[in-house]
Amino acid sequence: MPLHIVSPLLHSQGLTNLLHRNIYVKMDAMQPSGSFKIRGIGYHCQQLYKQGKRHFISSSGGNAGMAVAYSGKMLKVPVTVYVPEATSKDLIAKIRDEGATVEIAGESWQEAHFAAQKLAEETGGGYVHPFDHPEIWHGHASLVDEWVAQNHQFDLIVLSVGGGGLLCGVVQGLMRHGLEKTPILAVETEGAASLNRSVKAGELVTLDRIDSIAVTLGAKKVTQQALEYAQNYPIHTHLVSDEEAVEACRLLAETHRVLVEPACGAALAGLQTYDLKPYKSILLIVCGGSNVSYRSFYP
Ligand SMILES: *Cc1c(COP(=O)(O)O)cnc(C)c1O
Repeated sequence: MPLHIVSPLLHSQGLTNLLHRNIYVKMDAMQPSGSFKIRGIGYHCQQLYKQGKRHFISSSGGNAGMAVAYSGKMLKVPVTVYVPEATSKDLIAKIRDEGATVEIAGESWQEAHFAAQKLAEETGGGYVHPFDHPEIWHGHASLVDEWVAQNHQFDLIVLSVGGGGLLCGVVQGLMRHGLEKTPILAVETEGAASLNRSVKAGELVTLDRIDSIAVTLGAKKVTQQALEYAQNYPIHTHLVSDEEAVEACRLLAETHRVLVEPACGAALAGLQTYDLKPYKSILLIVCGGSNVSYRSFYP
């Protein structure tokens, strides 16, 4: 039994009217951990469990940490999440509410990552990376299985990119069904453009720093696999501003009554600012995110 749900796939009349294209939304904001991440991380944790791991360790103070905490709760496995100091109190509380132990570890994700790996080595626990593992991509690919099983096909898939796990998962899902020629619009914010910069450079680029409100997209370097897919499949990288991403969150709240992080708003902002003429039927992956509340928009 997967730990994620089959998320609603809706025709968006509001976005269709606005953008003059047939827009569908895949509502992964409805997933039990608050984002699509439970698909891949849930699957990865189940595999770790099969290998005998009885402690999961995460280095993410964001939606990956939430997904590991939820997976641990469902599999009755204790979870430790190392988070950088700047992690929002709300999110730490949400991760603790799922029953996980949260440890503050240093200033950056890198330090949390090292602390998590060290604990995993010392205790034999299972380290769960936020995006860089083939089992995570395998799990994210279930997104595509779902819309194919419902007899849908799209001319363009729109999604946001942080470390590239979601992108790799969707490409692999498309491959499973012989649909890998489907174009993908891979959206980042300008201050977190690690895929865009790597594609332009023709090699993996590590950003000096992340400068975006969409902290969830703040991977300084994408996974090698994401760059390889971007070089070999019809994947268009596209940048939006923080303001556009936040405005798109508002638009989604107005049209679909759902609150999402700027990391997810970025994908919709990408859709709003890209030339959609060649595409009739478009899927927006509403990837969600827990680091948001109504106060974010209606203070
Ligand atoms: C993790 C995440 C992303 C980016 O996913 P990657 O696999 O890191 O590219 C985008 N939006 C939300 C809400 C996320 O949680």
